[in-house]
Amino acid sequence: MSDRLETAKPEEILTWAIERFGDKFTMATAFGPEGMVILEMLSRISPSTYVFNLDTGYQFRETLELRDKVLERYGIAVDLLKPEHSVEEYERIHGGPVYKSNPNQCCFDRKLKVLSNAALGRHAWASAIRRDQSPDRARAPIVGWDRKFHLVKISPLANWTKKLVWNRIIDRGIPYNPLHDQDYKSIGCWPCTRATADGEDERAGRWSGTEKKECGLHTDEEPPQAPINPNL
Ligand code: SF4
Repeated sequence: MSDRLETAKPEEILTWAIERFGDKFTMATAFGPEGMVILEMLSRISPSTYVFNLDTGYQFRETLELRDKVLERYGIAVDLLKPEHSVEEYERIHGGPVYKSNPNQCCFDRKLKVLSNAALGRHAWASAIRRDQSPDRARAPIVGWDRKFHLVKISPLANWTKKLVWNRIIDRGIPYNPLHDQDYKSIGCWPCTRATADGEDERAGRWSGTEKKECGLHTDEEPPQAPINPNL
């Protein structure tokens, strides 16, 4: 199926996914430019699709404000899914910010566990990754099996370039995170995101200064297990 959809337009891929999986199809968004483009497509194809955001408690205000803009513009009420503990509780339990001491643990607790719970009862999810974003994402199929979350994973923009995404945003007046106009090329949680200089890799501002490149949502690994916390 992925081969057949390789040359399909993103709207055709989404239409196929909705016909195939119905209300068992969902989408996770961090309100990045690619996610905003898919949300605009969903508003035309299937606005009742359940869409959620992993609301870690560390997102930028500008990111969260997009949730209201999406509702107002497209009528899609993105569900903000929160981890078990608030930021205050979590930092108290661990004696400080875990994003500093063990970011893998922090992403696991505040993103992967939340997505695992959101996946229960679903059969497929859409991600907004593009193959040209990073070497880790270069092999992403249009439709593949996500063994981490036990879902079919659909990446309708896998074949798109950054230019195509931004052309679509401009052509259709799709809202986007204003931080992109301040040299933030890829935006995650504020403690783990910085603006980037011209010539830097698109994701260079994520977990800058560490070996970490991905939060773990889009890496092909076994189902989520708690990473070893060196501080315990
Ligand atoms: S991106 Fe940073 S703050 Fe957000 S969950 Fe991961 S480690 Fe924690």
